[in-house]
Amino acid sequence: ITILAIESSCDETSAAVCVDGKILSNHIAGQKVHEQYGGVVPELASRAHMQNIVPVVNVALSTAQTQLAAVDAIAFTQAPGLIGSLLVGTQFAKSLSLALNKPLIAVHHMQAHVLANLIEAPGPEFPFLCLTVSGGHTQIVLARAPDDLEVIGATIDDAAGEAFDKTAKLLHLPYPGGPLIDKYAKQGDATRFKFAEPQIPGLNFSFSGLKTSVLYFLQKEIAANPQFIEQNLADLCASVQHTIVNVLMKKLQKAVQQTGIHNVCIAGGVSANSSLRNTLTAYGKKHDWKTFIPPFQYCTDNAGMIAITAYYKYLKSDFATLEVSPAARATW
Ligand code: ATP
Ligand code: MG
Ligand code: FE
Repeated sequence: ITILAIESSCDETSAAVCVDGKILSNHIAGQKVHEQYGGVVPELASRAHMQNIVPVVNVALSTAQTQLAAVDAIAFTQAPGLIGSLLVGTQFAKSLSLALNKPLIAVHHMQAHVLANLIEAPGPEFPFLCLTVSGGHTQIVLARAPDDLEVIGATIDDAAGEAFDKTAKLLHLPYPGGPLIDKYAKQGDATRFKFAEPQIPGLNFSFSGLKTSVLYFLQKEIAANPQFIEQNLADLCASVQHTIVNVLMKKLQKAVQQTGIHNVCIAGGVSANSSLRNTLTAYGKKHDWKTFIPPFQYCTDNAGMIAITAYYKYLKSDFATLEVSPAARATW
């Protein structure tokens, strides 16, 4: 079974080819245009997707040494995401499906982030828990089967990725700041500054308070020393990162205790964070969890994760019709 998958939910245009559950190519084109605006500009994102999609699909096909004629199904990200961005991938996939007369598979982007953990063998056995931490979401998912995923915890305000990006902005770092915080934190002392951790009941998260507490802290320090950020950047990054990772790991540990499930994964763009990856591995050793972390290319937005999710949907003949339309928001 050869599946061509397309991801266009935000600001990466990506295409992947998957044959019998193996990813043969995963090509990702980022969009530099947003950097100067400090965030993704939806109209510019759709336009860039339109420019990128044909060359990106062609690279994915040629890297996999295959062609459109060999494709058995076309998969695409249907939701959630920026509506204009999703539309480009949806329309492209529908057109291909119609032209090739092959089934169409609609994929939920957040389910795909979770199932990215199944791409590389040995993946987690079901049931497993997945902490999905991305630019727009923070979720703890209980996965019983590829088509049986349940969100058992989620953020009530900002996502973990937003917490990284918004504090990075306060530290005068360009967008997206998450990877830069990770980079500077490597030279920093994570215990130097203390930021309040939110106390939210159950398995839910809250990150909006962290940004505010960093803001007030910086305002006070900068009043005394205008060079404060520049002089303490590494320690600030390490301390912020430590706080976020700590909040995430405490809730994940709570989920393990509540469910008794010891197969634990992370997913989403923030799972590229080196401290989160190291801390998960350390928790695993200490608490006897089996931990799983997707390779970097499957953490941030990519079509490989759409392809693997589509493969499991194909096996269940879970196809979409040409009436399907994208949705900016969608539960499952
Ligand atoms: P969603 O999946 O919720 O729709 P998204 O697709 O925009 O959102 P991803 O592409 O999965 O999100 O992740 C992007 C986020 O990951 C950004 O907030 C970015 O700062 C963050 N991120 C990427 N690498 C790192 C890193 N090394 N450390 C911390 N954050 C990171
Ligand atoms: Mg992105
Ligand atoms: Fe994403």
